[in-house]
Amino acid sequence: MQKIELLIKNGLLLTYDKEPFIGYIAIDKGRIIEFGNFRNKYDAQEILDATNKIVMPGFVNTHTHVAMSYFKGMADDLPLMEWLSKHIWPVENNFLSADFVRDSSLHGCAEMIKNGITTFNDMYFFGDQTAESAQEIGIRAVLGEGVLDYPVANYKNADEIFAYITKMNSKYKDNALIDFAIAPHAIYTCGKENLIKAKELAQKLDLLLHVHLSETKQEVADCLKRHNLRPAEYLDSLGFFEQRVLAAHAIWLDEREQNILAENNTSIAINTSSNLKLASGFDSFASYLEKGINLSIGTDGVASNNNLSILEEISLTSKLQKALNDDPTILPARQMVEIATSGGAKALGKEKNIGSIEVGKNADLICVDINNIQSQPLYNPFAQLVYTLTSENITDSIVNGKIVMKDRELVNVDEAELIDKAKYYKQKIIDFRN
Ligand SMILES: [Zn+2]
Repeated sequence: MQKIELLIKNGLLLTYDKEPFIGYIAIDKGRIIEFGNFRNKYDAQEILDATNKIVMPGFVNTHTHVAMSYFKGMADDLPLMEWLSKHIWPVENNFLSADFVRDSSLHGCAEMIKNGITTFNDMYFFGDQTAESAQEIGIRAVLGEGVLDYPVANYKNADEIFAYITKMNSKYKDNALIDFAIAPHAIYTCGKENLIKAKELAQKLDLLLHVHLSETKQEVADCLKRHNLRPAEYLDSLGFFEQRVLAAHAIWLDEREQNILAENNTSIAINTSSNLKLASGFDSFASYLEKGINLSIGTDGVASNNNLSILEEISLTSKLQKALNDDPTILPARQMVEIATSGGAKALGKEKNIGSIEVGKNADLICVDINNIQSQPLYNPFAQLVYTLTSENITDSIVNGKIVMKDRELVNVDEAELIDKAKYYKQKIIDFRN
């Protein structure tokens, strides 16, 4: 019998090219080597019994700010600019440091694993420390170092950020879990010169560009006033889309802008909860779907969501889009699950490695308990995931072939310590604000 590292047995496997079926998954050296109905074929070091569980690809969270975890619930129910300028930025300015980012990211990474996220795409600062925390938890990460025109974090200017990204890219080049990306914050915080430099560096190092785009109507109005172009047209005029771009939010794109994104294979991170909570707005994605724009799901940071649940996002997004389009057939459950997994993988340029159960892909998988009152009866696992289940039903998580959560307990960190640390920082933040 062939020796392997991990065998998942008896799970209800969700593959996207056939109907769900009960089967096994053989995993070795971080990858899926076989799945199907075999028995007694492999000698596994570890066996995960997935009886009465769905086994599916882990969720890919394509837009978040994980180091903002300690700001969850700090200020809510406020207009965007007041929320940012009076609450988030003053606290951020005071606390932002390598240590803060490491601790707060560790909390956020833990929360993401508990929500079934096995890969996240971040935008923040001190990516080196976020990388440490991601590796400690065992989650896969694409870390977009934020680029702004003015001094921020420990950077005096954008050129220092570009130098840091270059250094981090070579440091983590061969790391199985970590990739770096370039994240110009937005067109209103990053001028023409730095947007072009960001794009050129991304081309040189072959990295993803991660940008907030067309999040509010104000952004569109300001851009028209300043450049006589809409936001995506403006970026296009700079040649920004010549490199792989992930546009977060992208709510207010007109027909021409949508065509620009479609022609350039630009992906979008939908952040419905954040957009609703901050009243940034919402619009139909029907024409995006018609044009074949790749959609993915982001949670945004917990400061504006206030959770990291992909199951909540896909439920909310599907229902909102049905109502907006007066069409209950739009974004059906199966498509929503694919958007949150393989759509995310494609958005990050990782579709060959993650996002579905396929031989040769990385074993980034989650198990979801379906043996409980809430889950039963179960006719269609996709519908159950989108409309019924919550993150509490996610029991196990495997990233790169390693079990990182078992029976809802994180394997690599002490959860009690994380909770104590969150309480400690909350007190420090309260003391500062008083
Ligand atoms: Zn954001």
